[in-house]
Amino acid sequence: MIKPLLRLQKYEHKIFSLLKKAGKLGELRQLGFSRKDKHGFKFPIYQLTFGKKSAVKNRSILLVAGVHGLETVAVNILLDYLNQALRDGPVLSALKSGKLAIVAIPILNPGGLARQSRSNPGGVDLMRNSGVEGENALFFFGGQKLSGRLPYYQGKKLEPESILLFRALRDLYDAERKTPLIALDVHSGYGNKNYIWWPYAKTRTPSPDDMLFRRITGYMEKTKLHNAYHYGPQSEMYTTHGDLWDLFYDHFLKFRELKKRAPPFLPFTLEIGTWTHFKKNPTRILKKREIFNPPRNLKKQFVTGHREFLHDFSLLGIRNVNEI
Ligand SMILES: [Zn+2]
Repeated sequence: MIKPLLRLQKYEHKIFSLLKKAGKLGELRQLGFSRKDKHGFKFPIYQLTFGKKSAVKNRSILLVAGVHGLETVAVNILLDYLNQALRDGPVLSALKSGKLAIVAIPILNPGGLARQSRSNPGGVDLMRNSGVEGENALFFFGGQKLSGRLPYYQGKKLEPESILLFRALRDLYDAERKTPLIALDVHSGYGNKNYIWWPYAKTRTPSPDDMLFRRITGYMEKTKLHNAYHYGPQSEMYTTHGDLWDLFYDHFLKFRELKKRAPPFLPFTLEIGTWTHFKKNPTRILKKREIFNPPRNLKKQFVTGHREFLHDFSLLGIRNVNEI
């Protein structure tokens, strides 16, 4: 059991160093615990907030990683970006002046990260766990209800990790919120390109905010030449059951229908392609860890290669995205 704990400790150490660096600008909150593993261990789930308290309610963005425990490169990308953002530059100025707050949950699935599994300690794939039914979802890969011993298990009800993420969102987006809440969930492993996705994952029918999602990503692409990314709703690639962001998006959509003029909730996913090198070294596909992470010699390049995108994405928190 000690090895998984040491593995997690390495990341927790990075999280605590970030807070040390942020000083008064940073705050640590423990959202709760993961599902219990077979040894009875529950792993703490942390939320970091950077910026002034006054900015959190209306000028915050949310950054998430580590939903899948094997995708350590995604966790490293987020932590590296935060470390960079706290050094200097426009994001740090915006945090200091109260124009922007960054809320980050860098490891939503610490039990999976510690145990080197995609799923949580209960064998549930959190990105199949929302209970939302997909249309023409891919067989097996799109979610299965057979067993937690097999991948892509949907689970029977919302897992503790999923509930904690939902609670964190409702804290950021309540009746007082007047500006859009933009979120980015960083993943790694699918395909050989970098994708920016938005809802839905459950259906090819466009989400009601599809035009707004397209305008925002169009703006990102045009102004900063972030054209190393492919932009589109997730269902353009494949549909799945149980996507958490679909559940949350629909939840806030209902809220907006009841309360006219409530701002949109706009969740994006950054999926970093790590399959590029399989052609050169096909045996990599046989190793589970390597499907979801780049080769060791390219790791640094992968980790730092998204700094600029994350930086510009964070600044969306201070723009009026309705007028982009
Ligand atoms: Zn993932």
